[in-house]
Amino acid sequence: MTDEKPKKKKRLMNKSKVKTPMREQTPEARIYNYEEVPLGYSVEEAVSEAQRCIQCKDKPCQHGCPVGIDIPAFMLKLGAGDIEGAYRKIKEKNFLPSICGRVCPQEDQCELVCTLNKPDKGRESSAIGRVERFIGDYAMNNDIRIVPDIAPATGKKVAVIGSGPAGLTAASDLIQLGHDVTVFEALHKPGGVLFYGIPEFRLPKATLMEEIEGLKDMGVKFVMNYPVGKAESLDSIRDRFDATFVGTGAGLPWFLNIPGENLNGVYSANEFLTRVNLMGGYQFPHKADTPVKKIKSIAVIGAGNTAMDSSRTAKRMGIETVNLVYRRSRLEMPARQEEIHHADQEGVNFYTLHSPLEFIGDGKGNLCAMKVQEMELGEPDDSGRRRPVPIEGAVKTLDVDTAVISIGQGPNPLLINDCPDLKLNDRKGTIEADEVTFQTSYPDVFAGGDIVTGGATVILAMGAGRQAAEAMHRFLMTGDAKPKLEVAEV
Ligand code: FAD
Ligand code: SF4
Repeated sequence: MTDEKPKKKKRLMNKSKVKTPMREQTPEARIYNYEEVPLGYSVEEAVSEAQRCIQCKDKPCQHGCPVGIDIPAFMLKLGAGDIEGAYRKIKEKNFLPSICGRVCPQEDQCELVCTLNKPDKGRESSAIGRVERFIGDYAMNNDIRIVPDIAPATGKKVAVIGSGPAGLTAASDLIQLGHDVTVFEALHKPGGVLFYGIPEFRLPKATLMEEIEGLKDMGVKFVMNYPVGKAESLDSIRDRFDATFVGTGAGLPWFLNIPGENLNGVYSANEFLTRVNLMGGYQFPHKADTPVKKIKSIAVIGAGNTAMDSSRTAKRMGIETVNLVYRRSRLEMPARQEEIHHADQEGVNFYTLHSPLEFIGDGKGNLCAMKVQEMELGEPDDSGRRRPVPIEGAVKTLDVDTAVISIGQGPNPLLINDCPDLKLNDRKGTIEADEVTFQTSYPDVFAGGDIVTGGATVILAMGAGRQAAEAMHRFLMTGDAKPKLEVAEV
């Protein structure tokens, strides 16, 4: 026997200044299929990327994550080759790693504040999103399942209305706390925007369904084709359940309010994407009838993620000319950089500094052209972006038989219209909810996600679902949703 301490195993480091690249389908190949564009990391690539993380003590990345995932901890485990351990670490805070790894705007959150991120020195952040995706996918492909502990039954019944990321997160947390949870969803498939909005080539539906199966295994009940406010009133749900979470999202499209918007061939992005994603339009002609008419030339109006998804979907439908019409310049586009880059690579024509004035019909009620106003950039507006200003007399006509309007969405009105007493935000029409507890003006009703914030992000919706679930638990067990104030010992 010796008193000598066992030597600590030396951590392997990867000193590369740039992220481990991820292989992806070439633009030439991918515009003919709906398969995912980035192909994911191999085990070696993921481990090597995890070894770039320098394990900062103050963990800025974790503070930059809306659900507070312990990023250095999972990087450390993966860097040492412990993939299951890394998965367990992520699952402590996020039950949808494969999804968040794919669609979260990491470049504005954890990766933005990562210590390694020093663009002026040519150094890139840790590829947190890519690594998270790898870990989630690895667990799925290798049947590593972590069935969380479920607390003893509380005898309390909870309704969750809407099955987007906010509702799914609330349902997951509430069932683990021992409550009896039923999710009501208006559509025939769960997932919210993750299912009907984000296309297959960005988020494979099988990935989503696998995560939802996990919830069913935990005992969450799903009632589909059940629009609350029509199938049953919110008041009736409140009579049947001890507490309710509303996560009905922002699925009501905004329109331009210009002449000709009622012509055949003018779609909202929601309708266009739902027809292709949810109604199987992307499988036409082999497996589904076409729910979208045959298109020659399309204009997608807007430049957010939804506009990029619509234009890239259009490319895959074999449409000859896909114009993305945006009133500002490329610099001001709100979509994720990666989406803009992919759309550009795939041949979407960026028709920037143009704003639609009028849709023109062919005399039979069908769209055949669009009048656009050329713009230039003026002084910055309230959003901090330079304001687009019309150039006098610079009006053009674009030949298009289809237009997809993608300029933003408001709160889903079905449930709101059914309960006029529920307090709304005067300006946005969203449900008003307490910032900490997410409690609404009905004490037993909590709300979170896009229905409270307006169109935002998946991870913010999940964060809201989690915080609301905590408050609902307190409300169910003590009658008070507010967190107890910690009294500091003197
Ligand atoms: P939703 O996902 O909208 O889910 C709400 C659910 O409630 C829906 O299933 C709806 O059918 C259901 N519902 C509505 N009314 C009722 C009712 N009365 N009764 C029962 N059910 C009802 N965010 C990102 O972070 N990254 C991205 O890359 C990204 N891309 C996007 C692409 C598109 C095309 C769109 C539209 C959005 C995108 N977003 C993205 C935004 C993100 O998807 C949303 O912020 C997020 O889904 C909001 O989640 P939620 O749970 O609040 O609502
Ligand atoms: Fe690792 Fe970047 Fe987080 Fe530091 S900030 S711990 S380098 S991921």
